[in-house]
Amino acid sequence: MSFRPRYTGLIERYRDRLPVNDDTRLISLGEGNTPLIKLNHITKELGKDVDIYVKYEGLNPTGSFKDRGMTMAVTKAVEEGSKAIICASTGNTSAAAAAYAARAGIAAFVLIPDGKIAQGKLAQAMMHGATVIQIKGNFDQGMQLVKEVADHAPVTIVNSINPYRLQGQKTAAFEIVEELGRAPDYHCLPVGNAGNITAHWIGYCEYSCDSGDHVTDACAYCGGKCKYAGGAIVGNRPKMIGYQAAGSAPFMRGHMVDDPETVATAIRIGHPQSWDKAWQVKEESGGWFDECSDEEILAAQKLLAEKEGVFCEPASATSLAGALRDVKSGKIPEGSTIVCTLTGHGLKDPDTAIKQSTSAVVTVNAELDAVREAILNNMV
Ligand SMILES: *Cc1c(COP(=O)(O)O)cnc(C)c1O
Repeated sequence: MSFRPRYTGLIERYRDRLPVNDDTRLISLGEGNTPLIKLNHITKELGKDVDIYVKYEGLNPTGSFKDRGMTMAVTKAVEEGSKAIICASTGNTSAAAAAYAARAGIAAFVLIPDGKIAQGKLAQAMMHGATVIQIKGNFDQGMQLVKEVADHAPVTIVNSINPYRLQGQKTAAFEIVEELGRAPDYHCLPVGNAGNITAHWIGYCEYSCDSGDHVTDACAYCGGKCKYAGGAIVGNRPKMIGYQAAGSAPFMRGHMVDDPETVATAIRIGHPQSWDKAWQVKEESGGWFDECSDEEILAAQKLLAEKEGVFCEPASATSLAGALRDVKSGKIPEGSTIVCTLTGHGLKDPDTAIKQSTSAVVTVNAELDAVREAILNNMV
């Protein structure tokens, strides 16, 4: 019998590609190393010759990819002597900030839009002991307030405008490349603030350029760390596709949106913080933006849950909803390898899930005959 070293999180695993040194105290909950699941039934029913993988980021410690960025942001905040962190959030950032602050033994303040965050996320922020400030406004207004208050109070912002967040989040691209042995042809993500699509591109760029030899302008992202890639996938980068919810799609409108609305609350953002960076990612990768209706998003969420056994939250399903449409239309050609990021776990938002579920809940008397009849009536 052989033993593997204990997995202790993405900073430890990718330490030579991240801004830490030997003395840095790592604040980790074992984030990263999430499964890359190949879809079976959905691809077969599509009738197209493509490979679709989902990167199930809902299996991070607090149930979303935000943990990848938060381990890095909180590690650096603590290293720099900060005693408190703050963020605006549609829910998942607040859950991650609260948990990593608890782990570090510092305070967390989270601003959330009143009544517009999923129950699971609110429960997390509260359980981890964050101070939850509900504002009578949306995420974009919360973000503006956080930027202003951070100038007047001793708190570190841990939204994705904190550059360490993107550094942590880029590791998802590393994991994908290591598992596939190459970059996918297309990488599809739901887009809110557009930090994650930017972070993935940073990761792919770092892994795809030759020893310190910056092949494209994009490699300015890698901060000269290309040498670690060893040229394994030189020149091989995916086209990055960002899908937005139709009621909240500033990248489709070409300008900021003041009253974003969507069932996918995690991407209910009208003023993306990484606006310029995301346009740059689209240009450099040769990808595109598109939008999905709430109906398409919920249908994709349900399809994944019913046909593949993978439960993600509504915002996450936007990546698959868009990818399926673009494969059907041929915009994504046959022969392609596609990765869709599933950003958060379905348990985050049980209300939306139960509301749209059509599965039978059958109430019967506590008797053998009644239960047997219920089974026979519902056999497929
Ligand atoms: C934060 C979040 C997003 C959006 O990511 P951005 O980096 O803001 O584009 C998408 N889905 C979920 C579940 C999220 O928590």
